[in-house]
Amino acid sequence: MTKWNDQTVVVTGGAGFIGANLCARLLDGGAQVICIDNLQTGRLENLRDFAHHDRFEFIQHDVIDPLPRLRLPARSRICRVYHLAGAASPPHYQADPEHTLLTAVLGTRNMLSLSEQSGARFFLASTSEVYGDPEVHPQHEDYRGSVNCTGPRACYDEGKRSAETLAFDFYRARRADVRVARIFNTYGPKMRSDDGRVVSNIVCQALSGQDITIYGDGSQTRSFCFVDDLIEGLTRLMESDRAAGMPVNLGNPNELSVRQLVDLVVDKTSTTSRITFKDLPEDDPRRRRPDISRAQEFLDWTPQVTLDHGLDATVAWFQAEQHRAAAPLYA
Ligand code: NAD
Ligand code: UDP
Repeated sequence: MTKWNDQTVVVTGGAGFIGANLCARLLDGGAQVICIDNLQTGRLENLRDFAHHDRFEFIQHDVIDPLPRLRLPARSRICRVYHLAGAASPPHYQADPEHTLLTAVLGTRNMLSLSEQSGARFFLASTSEVYGDPEVHPQHEDYRGSVNCTGPRACYDEGKRSAETLAFDFYRARRADVRVARIFNTYGPKMRSDDGRVVSNIVCQALSGQDITIYGDGSQTRSFCFVDDLIEGLTRLMESDRAAGMPVNLGNPNELSVRQLVDLVVDKTSTTSRITFKDLPEDDPRRRRPDISRAQEFLDWTPQVTLDHGLDATVAWFQAEQHRAAAPLYA
């Protein structure tokens, strides 16, 4: 397990699903964590377990705007910047596409500048969406993708492609030491029940007895990675010297159709929910599976958690979430 021993680590998007899991992991490893988030899709509840930790600070800020001066603990410097800010769920990122695109472009530039000024290593949370609706299967990092730059997903897909461009330009110019992960569909505790992505939707629908929504006929595929595996991959990538300045796929290659996923969740929850079919959203990718040979070779990383176990943990978390009392956090 990586140890950070009082080094200061900045996490943007730290109140979101992946970001909050990452903050917890960094605090466990001894880091001073500064979490920056505008709470667009993130929640203070996600920080509940460590909101009062003496090595944790939360700053509400939109990364599109220039960063306020950060107060660092004595004798500390920023050594790592994990840049995760950016809504990841299609209904959320499509609600304000201009803000989504600017978060990817201006937010990434602002955080790269912070890395440049502080000499910190920079990590970009990119996405499998840079491959669009792929013609190559599974997707290797060398595949350049098939993205519709005029469609409703473009604000996110093209935004992340631009963010990668900026990151690699800073790297080539030796202005920042850069790591880029192309994250594939990830699920697990700390997702919002109203996140809108498929795992949280169908688990919450099954638990509450609402109709389970399949978009299209459910034959489209995805490959789902449990969040603990992803966090292990992110931190290994950040600390790897070999994987500098190149994109690295992080995801679980276990591919299944949305219909198969629904059947698994129905089985696990013994729900009486009905299954309903809705229109497939425009530009919804037909299939997606990561080629993780680069992560295996350079990071010695392979996901460990089976979908069966990961879904059990996720169902248990959403069940507990239904009963959790909303106590004030910063009282
Ligand atoms: P999320 O929506 O739960 O978290 C995103 C966080 O960023 C939220 O806390 C949100 O409030 C914050 N944010 C958004 N815009 C911001 C802005 N302009 N300024 C400051 N904060 C802002 O999503 P997530 O699933 O945790 O995703 C985290 C990152 O990983 C995102 O960059 C996303 O693109 C990437 N990613 C996630 C997945 C996945 O399956 N979860 C897949 C590919 C890539
Ligand atoms: N999806 C679905 N029902 C839902 C939410 C999503 O069938 O309630 C489908 C969606 O159309 C897509 C897949 O599940 O084909 C994964 O969607 P998600 O939004 O989780 O991720 P992304 O499309 O960004 O990979």
